[in-house]
Parts: sequence; C-alpha cells; structure tokens
Amino acid sequence: MNETTTVETHAFQAETRQVLHLMIHSLYSNKEIFLRELVSNASDALDRLRFVAIGDDAVYEGDGDLRIEIEADEEAGTLTVRDNGIGMNRDDVMENIGTIAKSGTKAFLDRLSGDEKVDAHLIGQFGVGFYSSFIVADKVTVRTRKAGEEAGAGVCWESDGGGEYSLEAIERDTHGTEVTLHLKESAKEFLSPWSIRSLVSRYSDHIGFPIRMQEKGEDETLEWQDINKASALWTLPKNEISDEEYQSFYQYLTHDMDKAMCWAHNKVEGSQSYTTLLYVPETAPMDLMLQRDERTGLRLYVNRVFIMDAAQQLLPHYLRFMRGVVDSNDLPLNVSRELLQENELSGKIRSAVVRRSLDLIAKIAKDDTDQYEKFWSQFGAVLKEGVVEDFANRERIAPLLRFASTRGDGDKHVVDLASYVERMPEGQDAIYYITAENHQAASNSPHLEVFRKKGIEVLLMSDRVDEWMMAYFTEFEEKPFKSVAKGDIDLHSVGKDGKAEDETDDQADASALDSDLLEKVKESLGEHVSEVRSSQRLTDSASCLVLGDQEMALHLQRLLEQAGQDVPDSRPVLELNPDHPLVDRLANETDEGRFGDLAQVLFEQALLSEGAALADPAGFVRRVNDLMLGK
Ligand code: ADP
Repeated sequence: MNETTTVETHAFQAETRQVLHLMIHSLYSNKEIFLRELVSNASDALDRLRFVAIGDDAVYEGDGDLRIEIEADEEAGTLTVRDNGIGMNRDDVMENIGTIAKSGTKAFLDRLSGDEKVDAHLIGQFGVGFYSSFIVADKVTVRTRKAGEEAGAGVCWESDGGGEYSLEAIERDTHGTEVTLHLKESAKEFLSPWSIRSLVSRYSDHIGFPIRMQEKGEDETLEWQDINKASALWTLPKNEISDEEYQSFYQYLTHDMDKAMCWAHNKVEGSQSYTTLLYVPETAPMDLMLQRDERTGLRLYVNRVFIMDAAQQLLPHYLRFMRGVVDSNDLPLNVSRELLQENELSGKIRSAVVRRSLDLIAKIAKDDTDQYEKFWSQFGAVLKEGVVEDFANRERIAPLLRFASTRGDGDKHVVDLASYVERMPEGQDAIYYITAENHQAASNSPHLEVFRKKGIEVLLMSDRVDEWMMAYFTEFEEKPFKSVAKGDIDLHSVGKDGKAEDETDDQADASALDSDLLEKVKESLGEHVSEVRSSQRLTDSASCLVLGDQEMALHLQRLLEQAGQDVPDSRPVLELNPDHPLVDRLANETDEGRFGDLAQVLFEQALLSEGAALADPAGFVRRVNDLMLGK
C-alpha cells in the first residue's frame, strides 16, 4: 500500500443499504447473474472507450486490443473481472458505485411487499447491475483508472456491502476497471473454469468483445484463451441464432431479469444498409411513465462500433419501452445527436424502427390474446400517446388499442375498436366512451344508465392519458367518438329490436320537464351551472352533470388544478331525470327554502358521482338530514 495516500470511508445512502440488503437476500437463488452484470458493464466500458477513440486514439495508450479478462484465484478465493475500457476517476466512482443513482429508489422501496418472490421480481425491474456482486461476495474491490489520465489517478473502492465503502487513490498503469469479488464460502463454485465457461456461454457469448480466461495449455503453462464467440449477435444470420441466444442477448443489453416478450431482427440492404434488432420487454421498468433516460432504449452502432444510446433520436416517445440495437453501415462514425435528428438516413431508419415496432406489437395482438393482454397492461397507456404524437401512424396504432367496456369482463382491457364498430346496432352512429378517474367511477357513472338500458356498448376509459388522447382522436373507421358525459345525446334512432324501440318511446314521452321548473332550479343554483335541463341519459339516478363537447372532463380539470395549473373556466349543465321521484318532489315543492335545499342536493349528488369533493360537505349533510327527516 502506498503510504502517502489515505483511505477515506464513506457511508452509503440509507436507501442504497436497504436495496443491497434486499438484493442479496431475494436474488440468492439467481446468484449467477452477477457475472452477466459485470461482463455487461465491462463491455459497456469497452464500447465507450472505442467511441472516444474515434476522435482520438491516444486514449488507447497503446493498448487497443479491447478485451475482458476473467481470472479465478482458488487460493485467495477471488474472482476478478477486468476490462481495458474507459475506466473511472474518483468522481465517477463516487457517483456511479457509491450511490444507487436511480431516481425511483425510494418509490421502489415503498412498493416492496416482504414476499421474497414478488420482491425478487421487482428488484429485477429495478436493474441490479454492479451491486449484484454482493450476492456472491462478502467483499468487493474495484481498481480503476480512467483512460487518458495519469497512472496516479487510479482509484481503489472497496466495500463489504454493509453500510460503508472505502476509497483510496492508487497508481494504476493500465486504463480500465478490475472488479475483484472475494467470494462467499457458498459461492466458491464460481472459481471453477468449467462453471465460468458455462456462464459465459449462456449469458455473454454474443457480446462484441472477446472474453478471456487463463487456462493450462498442453505444456501445463497458463495461457489466455478466448471463451466466448465475440461476434455481436445481430450481425449473425437469423437462422443461426437460437431463441435462448436472443433472450440472453436481451438480458445482457437491458440488465432485465425478465425475458423479452418477443423480438424482430431485420437486415436491410440496398441504397443504405442497416440492421435492427428490436425487443418488446415482458415487464415495464418501474419508472416507465416518467423516465426520459437515454440509456435504456435503443443503442446505435455504426459498423459494429457503439456510438450512443439514442432512444430519443431513433424512437418516438410513445415507443420508449422498446429495446434493442440499430447498426448502420452508412452513418458517419462521428455522427452527433443533432445530426441524427436532421439526417435523412437516420430519418429513414427511424421510420423503419417505428414500422417494425408497430408490426411486432400487432403480431402479438394477432397471435396471442393472453400475451397481448399482458403487453397492454404494461405498455398500453404509453402506446396511447402515439395516437396524439404520431398522426402519420394513427391508422396503425388505432387497431392496437384495447379498452374496458360496459359489455363485461370487468376492468379487463380487451375490447378493440374494430369489434366495437362491428357490434354497433343499426342507427348507432358514434363510438361511445366515458373517461373517469378510475375504472369504478367510469363503470358506475350515471351517464351510462340509458346506454345500459338500451344495451349500447360504452368504452370505459380510466387511464390518465385517455382524456388527452380523446381530444385528438376524433374518429375510427369513419365513426366519430362521442363522450357520454358531454353534449347532447340522442339515441332515438338506435336499436332495431322491439324492446329498445318501446323504451325509446317511453323516454320520448317522459322527457319534458316544465321549463319554468328548470329555470327556477337554475336561478336557485346560480353560477354553479350554465343550464338546467331534462335528461335523456338517466334512468335510475336523479341528476348528473354534462359538459360541452369540447370541454375538459371534470376529473382532469381537478387533476390540473391540484397540479397548480390554470384550468379554463367551464360550468357544467345539470341534467335532471324527469322520471325520478326526487325530481317530482322538487316540482311539487312550494316552500322556497326546501326547494333551494333540494335543488342544491341534486346538484351535489351529481358532483359526488363525478368523484368531485364538495365545497361545503357539512352543509350537504345537513340538507340531506333535513330532507330525510321531512323537515
Ligand atoms: P448500470 O450499468 O445499470 O448503470 P451499475 O450499477 O451496473 O448500473 O453500474 C453503475 C455505473 O458504474 C455504470 O453506469 C458505469 O458508469 C459505472 N461502471 C460500472 N462498471 C464499470 C466498468 N467496468 N467500467 C467503467 N464504468 C463502470
């Protein structure tokens, strides 16, 4: 040890400690994944060095033979994974492996259930990476030095996975990183060359760099031997790649513990040549809805050289769950993000990526309903953004959408638009839908009453993006969308069978409330409502609120208000059910005070069934009590 340097000790963030502890316990039955994670990090580091070297190959420091070395020391009980990649300086080390620098750590911990199986799965989604070392090691030592910096800029990081890690400045002649695992007794199996070989061929055969291990040659001396195929998977012909190989490449690429749901691998040759290998994951990473993380999407290579994680340049935002690789033969090696954005070649690649992604998703929908249901539950809300974001592909996206509906199946999202349209009875000229805060609110909404009675299907939408999407999504197969909570509803011409027609007539007969009464209610409610009218929508409830066709749903208005945003002023229409006994009672009420209370209660009930909070809940309780007591 160099005596002039001091060893500093740092504490992990409390959350890091908790995650480490959990990981070690819940992933123990999967412990061999540590090697895949370390090899994957090493290969990233090599990719990044090669990229920097495009501009300045001095960073190779004369050692451009990029490789990963694995060394087992039986006596010391250590396993070392070494790369001559980009390496890290002190700041990098502190930032990258001193914290679990993931935005959702706290949220993640809150979601843990205590059930090991479930938690192991969640941890997989979280992405374990480097920290998986502690599943098999009771001490981990990292020696690293950044390429291009002086030998004296080396760093040694060490931790036993408890609460702390140490940092020490060291001399290090070679650039790159060396991770040494002091294996636990129960993990000594990983010292055997045979087990290392088999793990490498299972998990890391097709990374683009050689992995070497020292083995005894014929004359009993140790020699370095390549133990993987080292040909980037996507460069091989499809028929030479097994499903297992595709899957393990996916896991190498994404650090995902789960498998990919499916993939598409295409080579395009012609005026420009490129290869795409696209995966649909099985499960969404935890922060899918929020993340703008570049690193997790598509990786761009030019002639096998990794250039950048370029999700945003090659994929529209609504396909941000896709994973994979794009390798172009024609883009310049020094392509920048800006250039990618404007470049005609990359524009073509981007449209091809979108088309192939949508085709891949459509294929799941066509081939396997159960699988698609799973896909939809993970990524449906994100895909919906495409309806707004990608007008050019709307016709491709619309058939992929799935909704819950009043037709049944609870909150399962299994209804597609084409079959909805097919089921529409004669005379129905719109696709009806309702948006609400959650499925229950949608499905219990009074706005559905007449539709239920007449057997007209209504799509039940409760994703946050729905109201926004529907503002742009105006028709499907030439049928306009219509919210059952907005504007006029006229169902007189719907339904050929006798029963529905009878009911339509009933309604028509009953539908007129006296205009003086309506005016009087309006006066009594003042500025809370823009109009009071007789309802065509209600059969059981006494009242409901209706918006103009272009107005924003009330639940969304509330959400925006809570987020401190300006919401356009809109006053709903109050509709009263002419057949409801409470409305009768209102019509016959001669006492002014009681009339006012009853009108107010009908309005407040309508608000409540929208999920709104009342401005004066105690007043509501008093009014209802008075009415119940006949005061
Ligand atoms: P992830 O790889 O998912 O980001 P990790 O916990 O595995 O998460 O690694 C954290 C970071 O540490 C990496 O993003 C990288 O910046 C750095 N790192 C890990 N291993 C190496 C390595 N062998 N060489 C250089 N940097 C590394």
